[in-house]
Amino acid sequence: MSLFSAVAMAPRDPILGLNEQYAADTNPQKVNLGVGVYFDDNGKLPLLQCVQAAEKALMDTPTARGYLPIDGIAAYDNAVKALVFGADAEPVTSGRVATVQALGGTGGLKIGADFLKKLNPDAKVLISDPSWENHRALFTNAGFTVETYAYYDAAKRGVNFDGMLDSLNAAAPGTIVVLHACCHNPTGYDITPAQWDQVVAAVKAKALVPFLDMAYQGFGHGIQEDGAAIQKFVAAGLTFFVSTSFSKSFSLYGERVGALSVLCQDKEEAARVLSQLKITIRTNYSNPPTHGGAVVAKVLNTPALRQQWEEELGAMRVRIKEMRQALVDGLKAAGVQQDMSFMTQQIGMFSYSGLNKDQMLRLRSEFGVYGTDTGRICVAALNRQNVGYVCQAIAKVMQG
Ligand code: PLP
Repeated sequence: MSLFSAVAMAPRDPILGLNEQYAADTNPQKVNLGVGVYFDDNGKLPLLQCVQAAEKALMDTPTARGYLPIDGIAAYDNAVKALVFGADAEPVTSGRVATVQALGGTGGLKIGADFLKKLNPDAKVLISDPSWENHRALFTNAGFTVETYAYYDAAKRGVNFDGMLDSLNAAAPGTIVVLHACCHNPTGYDITPAQWDQVVAAVKAKALVPFLDMAYQGFGHGIQEDGAAIQKFVAAGLTFFVSTSFSKSFSLYGERVGALSVLCQDKEEAARVLSQLKITIRTNYSNPPTHGGAVVAKVLNTPALRQQWEEELGAMRVRIKEMRQALVDGLKAAGVQQDMSFMTQQIGMFSYSGLNKDQMLRLRSEFGVYGTDTGRICVAALNRQNVGYVCQAIAKVMQG
């Protein structure tokens, strides 16, 4: 009998479990479309030029690695504020945004969740149906009851917007609503600007607490365009949360660079909120790591590197769009009768392919093509070498 005799084996993380299965697969043509990671046209994880240049510049003036402040590098936090709200925008100039450096977007979500739990312990959390699988687990672990708002309409291949509004309108005041600011994961379907206006109005009318998750800024239509939803919440005079992730947009997955920003009513309120966020950080991991934040701050705050980043991010965005088109064309060429053009209407790194679980399992076992059981495939992992094979495989499982 040991202390741990009664410890149950936890289920494998669905996505990371898929990775392990992929690694063990001996099929030479195997393709991993499971995990949400951008690979270049050679199937390689990119190391961005702007990141290399920033790292070189940092190495030129080596610095000792003391503890960072609890809320992170000031130049980093300021760059995040400027990116999320606009450098000259009123929330930033008036000092009413509290921003902290976080361990990736996940860290930003968790700091926000822990703070909200103290603020309003009885609030419910609503996430989209479906959502990034960690949303439910993360808010549940923070002590919240997590429910869903309607989002995906499989038959329509799009957003069930009426259902979404109905869900929001039925929510109790104070309910926390997690919204994907752009590039919805997993479906690839975003709501339109006009629909955002209606969401903002419903959130305001029902006194809900918006928590915008921005993990893919720049992967949809552009950096500014992808932040447009934030501007709408600002214009409505709301206070809200935004988590930022640079994992994908800087290809810095392992450095864990993200942030949490809380837009408050005024500067004095932001100072109080920041003091509470810092307690959450201090009692969890004390303070953030130096390297990733220093690199991102260097890039965002150096005009030439910033421009290089925008170009590199733009190239990633364009390549994903090209792969969507290649997928649609390739499926047609492989004999798929069904109109698959919906894949080019989706945005961001993912496509909800419409394939069912059995078809996804067959893709894996017969062809070594790995997507999630829900039919989500990562378009950002396709390239000119593997897309033809993937299309053949999908066509075969679609044809029965
Ligand atoms: N939010 C969404 C919607 C995501 O898809 C992801 C990553 O896949 C994250 C947050 C977490 O990002 P990070 O890896 O920076 O923690």
